[in-house]
Amino acid sequence: MIFKWIIFGIILYIVYQIFFKKDNIFSKVKEASKKSARKKSQKEDSEIMVECEKCGIFISSKEAIIKDGKYYCSKKCAGVK
Ligand SMILES: [Zn+2]
Repeated sequence: MIFKWIIFGIILYIVYQIFFKKDNIFSKVKEASKKSARKKSQKEDSEIMVECEKCGIFISSKEAIIKDGKYYCSKKCAGVK
């Protein structure tokens, strides 16, 4: 009779472990997707790809030279000496 309860306990423990592990995996995936989403939005906020007015090359807004409200890829394109 005691043996039955031990087996029942083991099964209960295994089932609990499976559910616990599953929950852990799901929460990790959720966290990872949240992190990547956050990274993406941050990148979009800080780095916008802009087209050079002169040569048409796409560069990030950080590296772009802004002259008269227009973006240029380099000083040469902007006409700045
Ligand atoms: Zn250019």
